[in-house]
Amino acid sequence: MNHQPRKRFGQNFLNDNLVIDRIIEFVNPQPAEIIIEVGPGLGALTLPLLERVDSLQVIEIDRDLIAKLQQRKNPKLTIHEADVLNINWPELAQDSPLRIVGNLPYNIGTPLLLNLLEARGCIADIHVMLQKEVVDRLCASVGSRAYGRLSVLMQSCFNVHELFIVPPSAFTPPPKVQSAVVRLTPLPTSPDKETVKKLSVATRMAFANKRKTLRNNLKEVLPETRIVEAGLNPQARAETLNLDQFLTLAKMLP
Ligand code: SAM
Repeated sequence: MNHQPRKRFGQNFLNDNLVIDRIIEFVNPQPAEIIIEVGPGLGALTLPLLERVDSLQVIEIDRDLIAKLQQRKNPKLTIHEADVLNINWPELAQDSPLRIVGNLPYNIGTPLLLNLLEARGCIADIHVMLQKEVVDRLCASVGSRAYGRLSVLMQSCFNVHELFIVPPSAFTPPPKVQSAVVRLTPLPTSPDKETVKKLSVATRMAFANKRKTLRNNLKEVLPETRIVEAGLNPQARAETLNLDQFLTLAKMLP
């Protein structure tokens, strides 16, 4: 590989063709779709995607990698030189829902997912590789160890489905942890913007200290009486509340 991987950009390049093929099969790209790849890197997913689609947009932050991609002079490829966390998703979508694909740099996985949650109105689906631990949190059910803010927020608006696990040996350099590919599809109906904002606040506060009760974690924003009015036990801990209960709680917020 004629590129020194940069740790600060989370560069763990896929080297396993079976894993690459599996991701492409799960994405199943169709020629006319608007597909956005986050972090194309050296092109492990980019090249097979380009074989299947009429056009592909990629977002890459590393100028050296952008230069390599430009050398390919592929007329189907549009390169956005940008930090994906600053992308204006609705502007990219221009009325056609986006399909988002990527082997994500692990340091920005969670903030990117939260950005995509806000932009869910212009998203068709998301297929991304993340640390297995983050995928566990995305898919976690109430009461499980991995259940937390990310589970509640993302599951309030997306159907979340772990597709398969990927070992460190599939990457160069190998990361220290297991990875997994996950698919997120917006739910046909999801809470309105205002409710999701409140859910974001409610979950941030409720999970702030996992050992504390709802009453203690929420006391700055919600008196105990309001928690009772919501039909919830103020002595309960956040990890025992399911999505519907969190939504009820969120709607109680001023
Ligand atoms: N897709 C390639 C692959 O699977 O081999 C590379 C994946 S590598 C895990 C992550 C890629 O995201 C790198 O190319 C890295 O430069 C790029 N990247 C890192 N941070 C980024 C950011 N904030 N915005 C856009 N791209 C970023």
